[in-house]
Amino acid sequence: MPYDPNNIFAKILRGEIPCTKILEDEFSLAFHDAYPKAPVHALVIPKGAYINAQDFHQNASPEEIVGFYRGASKAVDLLGLDKDGYRIISNSGINGGQEVPHYHIHLLGGKKLGPMVEK
Ligand code: 5GP
Repeated sequence: MPYDPNNIFAKILRGEIPCTKILEDEFSLAFHDAYPKAPVHALVIPKGAYINAQDFHQNASPEEIVGFYRGASKAVDLLGLDKDGYRIISNSGINGGQEVPHYHIHLLGGKKLGPMVEK
């Protein structure tokens, strides 16, 4: 499946759709989820066109991978999530429930999040 340049996050990266930005640098963009599932719910996306975790981890350059995760770490700090803890989630494909086909991680926190997955 090729990368779809018209996915919502590609449009956010191009500035065609607004977002509530937390951080932007050379390799990453962090912004608040429009439909938060926790008191704090942010998304971090790489600047490059990668569909999911496998695509990003296998095909991005080392600079992009390190830059992306450092950006995510800065977003954690800016959101104050480190003190009480938080969860990182990345959904992939049909079983993972991925809705937007541009690689992203969710940063969730602000309360105890409960079980990791539904039973
Ligand atoms: P996924 O299900 O693909 O892992 O997560 C996609 C996330 O994108 C969902 O949590 C959803 O709420 C969020 N989302 C969908 N459309 C928009 C949008 O236009 N703006 C923002 N900020 N988040 C969005």
